[in-house]
Amino acid sequence: MAVERSVEVSYSAFYSPSPEAIRKGLQAWHAALAQFDKAAHILEASGHPLKRGLIEFLRRPKRELIVNFPVQMDDGSIRMFTGYRVHHNAVRGPTKGGIRYHPDVTLEEVRALAMWMTWKCALVNIPYGGAKGGVAVDPAQLSPRELERLTRRYATEISLLMHPGGDVPAPDVGTNPQIMAWIMDTYSMHTGFTQPAVVTGKPLEIGGTMGRVEATGRGVMMVVAEALKVNRIPIEQATIAIQGFGNVGSYAALTAHQMGARVVAVSDVQGGLYNPKGLDIPKLMDHVRQRRTVVGFPEGEPISNAELLTLKVDVLIPAALENQITAENAPFIQARILAEGANGPTTPEADEILIEKGVFLIPDILCNAGGVIVSYFEWVQDLQSFFWTEEEINSRMERILKRAFYEVLAKEEELRRHGLKAGDYRTAAQALAIWRVAQATLIRGIYP
Ligand code: NAD
Repeated sequence: MAVERSVEVSYSAFYSPSPEAIRKGLQAWHAALAQFDKAAHILEASGHPLKRGLIEFLRRPKRELIVNFPVQMDDGSIRMFTGYRVHHNAVRGPTKGGIRYHPDVTLEEVRALAMWMTWKCALVNIPYGGAKGGVAVDPAQLSPRELERLTRRYATEISLLMHPGGDVPAPDVGTNPQIMAWIMDTYSMHTGFTQPAVVTGKPLEIGGTMGRVEATGRGVMMVVAEALKVNRIPIEQATIAIQGFGNVGSYAALTAHQMGARVVAVSDVQGGLYNPKGLDIPKLMDHVRQRRTVVGFPEGEPISNAELLTLKVDVLIPAALENQITAENAPFIQARILAEGANGPTTPEADEILIEKGVFLIPDILCNAGGVIVSYFEWVQDLQSFFWTEEEINSRMERILKRAFYEVLAKEEELRRHGLKAGDYRTAAQALAIWRVAQATLIRGIYP
């Protein structure tokens, strides 16, 4: 008895995310499982049943690593941090998935994001499994030297799971090309030679690819352009609101602007901006480079994040975090198209409401797949030491995204005959992806 009690005490003493972070992480993981179960159910109804054991295998992560590690701060003090790396499924190839630096990162959140990566890579049919990683930290609170030390130590701690042919991280919320460069350098120092293919999203100078920084946001708009065509809305007349103005949100905004659409509202964690005539996105990006927030840009009215989500626009792009569109605000969504730039922004309860309302929802695993597609291109180029032009990158990405988009539309039509609600593109996309991973598993066989 005494032993059991001490195990419990030591677990909670070492690993203590806030109750709010635990709640959010569990919510994301439960959403990922609910989406999976719905897709498995419709697969069965359509004559593609998965065996019970196979369902259990696909629902579970393959391996999960929790690391607690010290970092020396600039004032000489030592702080402990907790990080994670989860491999959800490696059947179709090396695991791929970003690294997040955010105070609310938990094991459950990382696990959900890793599972979504498995389905995303299968949906766009690139030869990867799914992974994710993260550290519970607010990077804005660290100096550049502290951030580098934290990154190098975290990379060292998870290096037993990283490998150019086994697990290849990339940027996500709170991380950037410089952080990827430190990860690549740390891993290369351990192995004794330069290994660019161990991480993607690197700067160009060290084996990064053209177009990676822009890829996710640009890809979001490539998919939105197809959705606008299907919904017979000319892009020049389309109005767009974007929640989150980081990597994904800002480049989605810039691409939309370049395509001739009107971005009428944007926001970040500090607040939002609204201008019905359309915001000057290149000018706004300059403002953000200097001030690190959209707040204070003179050519727009302030708007709250809650107001932005319910604006009457043609396209709403959540590009911040999970659980933003919920049963509470979904009834008030007025957008015709909801394009999920973020991973997991919509809860399963909100999904049902949006389907009933007839909102054309482009699910995350399709909508934001441009990032992992160009990461895949970067990895291929690094392995071959042979680099492509930006034009080649963009046209290949567009071809893959368009193919996946119309495959999802066709799947939704097929599954409707077996009871899928019209417009449930998320379940159609997941069914397509899950079936691919299931087939790969059966063809490989269960070891030993
Ligand atoms: P980022 O850190 O560059 O930007 C995040 C943005 O969201 C920032 O502008 C931040 O201020 C804002 N934000 C945070 N909390 C907010 C809130 N409560 N309300 C409004 N805005 C808020 O991150 P990113 O890389 O752009 O990632 C955004 C989303 O896209 C995440 O869900 C991520 O998993 C997903 N994603 C990213 C990539 C990629 O290549 N970076 C690829 C696929 C998916």
